[in-house]
This record gives sequence, C-alpha cells and structure tokens, in this order.
Amino acid sequence: MAKYVYGIDLGTTYSCIAYVDESGRANVIKNLEGTNTTPSVVNFASPNQVVVGQVAKETAVIDPKNTVSLVKTLMGKSNFAISYNGEDKSPEEVSAYILRKLAEDAAKEIDAEVKDVVITCPAYFGTAERTATKNAGIIAGLNVLEIISEPVAAAIYYGCTKESEEKTILVYDLGGGTFDVTIMSINSEKIEIICSDGDHDLGGKDWDSAAMRYLADEFASQKSYNGDLDEYAQQDLRLKAEKAKQQLSAKEKTPVIVEAAGERARIDFSREKFDEITSLLLNSTITKTDAAIAVAEQRGFKVDEILLVGGSTRMPQVTRVLEEKYGIKPKILEPDEAVAKGAAIHAVNVYINNQPTLSKWNEDNKGSVTSDSVLDPSNSVEQLSVDPKMMSIGGKKRSIVVATTKSFAIEVIVDKTTREPKCCNMIIKNDPMPDGSITVSNIFGTVDAGQGEVEITVYESDFMDEYFDVDEDYAIGTATLELPENLPADSPIEITFSLNSEGILEVTGKDLTSNKEIHATMRSKYIMNSETVEELKEKSKQMAVM
Ligand code: AMP
Repeated sequence: MAKYVYGIDLGTTYSCIAYVDESGRANVIKNLEGTNTTPSVVNFASPNQVVVGQVAKETAVIDPKNTVSLVKTLMGKSNFAISYNGEDKSPEEVSAYILRKLAEDAAKEIDAEVKDVVITCPAYFGTAERTATKNAGIIAGLNVLEIISEPVAAAIYYGCTKESEEKTILVYDLGGGTFDVTIMSINSEKIEIICSDGDHDLGGKDWDSAAMRYLADEFASQKSYNGDLDEYAQQDLRLKAEKAKQQLSAKEKTPVIVEAAGERARIDFSREKFDEITSLLLNSTITKTDAAIAVAEQRGFKVDEILLVGGSTRMPQVTRVLEEKYGIKPKILEPDEAVAKGAAIHAVNVYINNQPTLSKWNEDNKGSVTSDSVLDPSNSVEQLSVDPKMMSIGGKKRSIVVATTKSFAIEVIVDKTTREPKCCNMIIKNDPMPDGSITVSNIFGTVDAGQGEVEITVYESDFMDEYFDVDEDYAIGTATLELPENLPADSPIEITFSLNSEGILEVTGKDLTSNKEIHATMRSKYIMNSETVEELKEKSKQMAVM
C-alpha cells in the first residue's frame, strides 16, 4: 500500500484534507459525497453513530438539539459542546469525529492508510486552543505530526518558501465567519511570524447580512410594504443574498427575486451597489491590516507580497481595495484549498526530516528515537510514496518561528492599601520567539509576613498593556508556589513564564531570599489531561462515523 502523509484544514464552517501524490503535487481528497470540503457539522444520530458533513448540516434544521456546528469556536474555551444520551461531549471529542470523517473518507477514496497528519489552526490560537486541536487528532486515532498556523500553511502552498531571498508576506484571510491578518518573514529555510491580528466575528456572513438588508429595503420600496419579513422569508432571503453575493464575484449585475408577504419583486442587484453597502465592513478589515503592518514596520519589516485566503476573498472588492491601498497586487489561488494543501506539503517535510533517525531505529532496532521526534516509531519507518526529489522542498529543514499569539499575565496586588488585584502582563502578544520559545521573569513581593504559599492565577488574553483589570473570562489556570516558612512581607519572589513553540506555558518560581526554586504545577481549566484524552480515544472508537 502506498504511504502518504496528510494536511488537514480543520475549519470553523468547512474542513478539508489533502496529500502530496507521487509526482509531488498537493491534491485535495474528496469525501464520499464527492465534494472537496466537508461542512464541520456533527449530528449525534444514535448512541453508537455520528453523522458528519453535508447530511449533518441539513439535519441541523430538524434536529438542532443533537447537532453541533462551529465547534472550533469552543476549542480550548470550554469543556462542553453538547449533551447527548445523558453524556457531556467535549469540543475535542466532537472535532475528533470531523477528523475521522475526513480521514476515513480519504482512506477509501485513495485506498491508503490515513495516519500521520499536520493539522492547521488559526494564527491567533493560544495554548489551550492549540492543545485542544492536537488532542482532537489524538482522540481520532491520528498521529499528529505538528499543529501549524493556517497562514503559514497557505504561504507554503503559494510556494513562497521556494525562494531563497527573504520576503515579507501578508496573508489576508477572510472566511465565512472570521477575519485574520498575519505578517511573516519567509525564505527557503525559515518562516517567521512577525505578528497577527484579526476580528473573530467578521466574515462572509456579514456581507450576506448587508445584502439582505438592501434587498429587503428594495422590496419594501417597490411594493410599498412596510411590515417586517416573517421568519421563512428571512431564511429564504439569506440564502438568496449569499447566492447573489457569490454571483456578483463573477458578474457586474444579477437579478434577485424576493418573495415575501404574498408578493414577488425582481431586484437588479449590481456589484457597484453591493460594494457600496459593504464598504464599511471591508474598511474594518483594512483597519486591522494597517495595525498589523504598523507592528511589522516598527520591527523593521516592509510587506512585499499579499496572499489571499478564505472563500470571501473571491469578492473582487477585496483585491481592488488592497491593491489601491498598498500598491501591491494580491495573489489569489484556490482560497478554500490552499491551507490543507500547504499543510500536506509541510507534513511531507516534517516526515522526511525525521526519517534518518527513524531509519536507524529500524536498522539496529535498539537505537532510540530522539526526544524531539514527533513521529510514532511503530509506523513511521515506511518510505513515503512521494519521491522527495520531486519536491523542491525535499530534504530541506525549514524552521517555523512563531511570535506569541497571546499575552500572558498574572494577577498581582499593585496598590497595597486598597489591595485591589490587577493583571500584570509578563508575555505580550506578538513578542518574537526567535529560537521558538520565550522566557520572561519578573520579581514580585509577598504581601503578608509568614505567607505559606502564593496562589498564582494565569491569564491569557489579547490585551497588550502592562496592566489590565482582572476578568475571570481570561483565566487559564492556577499554580501554587509553596514558600519557605517565616518569610517577611515584601520578600522577593521571581516568577518565570516559559512559552514553548507549541504554545504551551510553563510557570516556575524562585524565592530570592534563599535562592531556591519553588515548584509550581499549572492546573488549567480547559486543557484536557492525557488520561482523559486516552479514555476518549478508546471510547470514541465505539462510534461509527458516517
Ligand atoms: P471559508 O470559511 O473560507 O470556506 O469561506 C466561506 C465564505 O466564503 C462564505 O461566506 C461564502 O459565502 C464565501 N464565498 C464562497 N465563494 C464565494 C464567491 N465566489 N464570492 C464571494 N464569496 C464567496
């Protein structure tokens, strides 16, 4: 059987899987329904069966209680996605069923095993969200080679990594429900994320709403109708508005028949009108893009290229305005598939780069796999079916350097009289992580004499100021520092935050009076422990995925 590795774009509304074939080409693998992308919707149909994809999306209308959409928005933020058959299901478990649908359909489609995968996530995903994504892969029975950011995958697909001279790339990603902008510096050896920003509640759906409002107003004025549209008419209009929007990407004008209150009206919808009524939406993406460019420029980077990702970048207004504003013609190429294909190319790269150590392990059967190897030695010694020479990236170690995607703070008392706690940022969003990690230490004083321990609450947020008000919504975990006895008040304690390349945070402390390290164990609300992951993996095997 041929051996391949895969890239999976686990999307908010649609997901997609790709692989690199023998000739070195990245291809999307169709699902059993024959489409390139699969709706990220899961319906719990019976205690031992889930339905994923288009059928689940259609079922959502009649069985909303047992159907989960948009589960990605809960990853790392909640332990609960849905209750079914008296059991609470986590976002990780639900996402694992989406991954299984993609993997199982792909295996049938190309008649090969689907095991080793790279899964993508948004650049803005923090520690808990990335860990949740990886755990979803493990629960699905996959060997997760790496989690990489979607814009990085897109840049790999667009071939930016083939050129040896250094370039600064801006990835503008406008999907159905979210907008992200990421700036990275890239050459054939290294991809370095400089900064990312975005609006996680802005996407194609907002352009649909604007078109809907316009069509409803036109209908009202043509028919002198001044009532509200009923729910059915609204639903119908939303579908028509999205369709008209998509048609206006290809032509200048499209007729829309609006039916409501027993009447029909034909409205000639033009691209010019559509662009006019949605210009504020587009402007807000430009504001975010400007902010990201300003951060990059502060650090000495000037954008050379703009890449477009996400279905909504098919709207001609996006290319036009970006070109007018920045004087660079954006590149657009398969915006729905670029991320999965880039992830597949990266998977080959990771696999090949780990191969030498693994071959040795196979040869004498006693050497050990290096600790930084992410491959499962039991199945990774197989040769890939793709000939590395066919790929311009073959055999080349390309490092991915990330920037912090979140700020990390601890709760401290700034004013000892009022004792009002504040959050103090230790690591700030977009801080560079040149060697793949970042370590920051700060010294704080104990508040009371003879304090036996310090309870540290850790916060993960997008706030970039040194201090911000305490808000439990951003707390990700606590760590208890055990202090030596009889320390006077205001004894210096050094707190250190270390964030590794996978976005996992470690907290340590040091009592500077005795110069002793203090042990701290981070307990996190939303990061699943490995025993639970294993249990879910075993348990979910009982579920058939259709
Ligand atoms: P994504 O999340 O990247 O799959 O993007 C989905 C969004 O892209 C939805 O809002 C779609 O309506 C939108 N979209 C897909 N095709 C087009 C098109 N041809 N023109 C405008 N928007 C589109």
